[in-house]
Amino acid sequence: MQDTRLIPLSALQHYAFCPRQCALIHNEQVWSENFLTAQGQQLHQRVDHGLPESRKGIRYERGVEVSAPSLGLTGKLDLVEVDIATGVCFPVEYKRGKPKQDHIDLIQLCAQALCLEEMLGLNVSHGAIWYWQTRHRHQVEISETLREETLSIIEATRNLLNSGKTPKAKYEKKCDACSLYELCNPKLTFRDKSRSYVQAIYQERSFEETEK
Ligand code: SF4
Repeated sequence: MQDTRLIPLSALQHYAFCPRQCALIHNEQVWSENFLTAQGQQLHQRVDHGLPESRKGIRYERGVEVSAPSLGLTGKLDLVEVDIATGVCFPVEYKRGKPKQDHIDLIQLCAQALCLEEMLGLNVSHGAIWYWQTRHRHQVEISETLREETLSIIEATRNLLNSGKTPKAKYEKKCDACSLYELCNPKLTFRDKSRSYVQAIYQERSFEETEK
């Protein structure tokens, strides 16, 4: 790989949520905390700071730093469970909310599995996401389909960050939960676009009338 800039794992999640949000955070270094992100940060800090321990043949490693130059990724994993007998690794990601319809959380977990595979040279077939709101742990298969989807998000994120361009805002329902809402102001940008569209129509009309 020629590009040596390692992409933080969090950028994939931001890209999958909104490419504009990803560019604002990772290229323009814009960040704003809201209630949801603050809660998420607290949860990750609590998990990451736990000490490693072993129970019933499993070693629990917390706050595991990973770097995968071939994939071009770097980041920190909340928890990796290692089967002491076989060395098989099982990444566990902690999330504040509950399971969602989209694949954003799955993509993040799969990217973690891919990093572990590159670093350790072994197969990671499963992982899990633990949701704080439902207090439930969901096992996830790192399937071929999920791997392909994740690789294409990695590629798209890399292209976006290398382009240095920030996509224009477009208001959607998800914007209401976005921590950058105030800074991005998607409704205003949207209105501005409508206004210039209307102005363009008026200009066209008045040009046609002077031509008559
Ligand atoms: S407010 Fe909407 S358009 Fe703007 S960064 Fe957030 S999700 Fe993207």
